[in-house]
Amino acid sequence: MPHWTRNIQGLFNLFLESHCLLCDRATPTEFCLDCTRQLQKCQLTRPHYLEQQQLPIFVWGNYQGTLKRAISSLKYENQPTIARPLGNWLAEAWLNSPFANRQVIVVPIPLHPTRQKQRGYNQAALIGEHFCSVTGLKLHELGLTRQKDTAAQFNLSPQQRHENLNKAFGLGAEFCHHRPVKPVLLIDDIYTTGATASFAAKVLQQEGIAVAGLVAIATSQRHNKA
Ligand SMILES: [Zn+2]
Repeated sequence: MPHWTRNIQGLFNLFLESHCLLCDRATPTEFCLDCTRQLQKCQLTRPHYLEQQQLPIFVWGNYQGTLKRAISSLKYENQPTIARPLGNWLAEAWLNSPFANRQVIVVPIPLHPTRQKQRGYNQAALIGEHFCSVTGLKLHELGLTRQKDTAAQFNLSPQQRHENLNKAFGLGAEFCHHRPVKPVLLIDDIYTTGATASFAAKVLQQEGIAVAGLVAIATSQRHNKA
C-alpha cells in the first residue's frame, strides 16, 4: 500500500472512530491488540492436524474462549465484518501449509434461504470471500444449495443428526448447468462432528464432482496445539 494511501486510511479511521468489534475499545482495525492476542491464542499450531479424517479437514483454531465469542458475534450479533480477519488468518495458515498449491475451487456450506434472509448474509460465504481474496482461489457461492431448514444440531443424537441432514443439501444453480473440473474445497465457520460436511460432500460426489476437503475457522473437537 503506498504511503499516502496509508495516511488517508489513518485519517479515515480517526474520523470513523472505529471500535473493537469484541470489546468496544478504540482501534483502527476490527479487533484491538488485546483481543487479537486472545484470538491468536486459540490458533492450532498444526492446522492440518485433522487431515487423516475420511474427508480431509483443515481448521485454523479451537472453538473456545475469544474465538468462540468472535464466531458467535459474526453469526448472531450482525457483525459481518468479523469474517474479514478470520478469513484472512485461515488463508494465511492455508498458504503456509503443504496444501498451498492445490488447484481447488471454494464452495461455502450454504444456509437455508429463510435463515440467510433473517441473518442478512451467510457467514461461511463471507469467510470464503476473504479466504479467496488472499489465496487467489475462486469462490463459487452458489455451488451448493440448502433445501431443508435443519434445526440446530447441538442437542441431537447421532441418529437425529443423520435424519436432520439427509437431503438437506442440493446441487446449486452454478453447478447444475456446468460441472466444475477442479475439486471442491468446502468452507464453513465451525467444524463439529463432520456430519454437515460429509452430507454436503456427498451431494457433490454423487454428481461426479471431486471434493478435496473442508476448511473451517474453528473446531469444537478438542485438539492439542502441538
Ligand atoms: Zn478488543
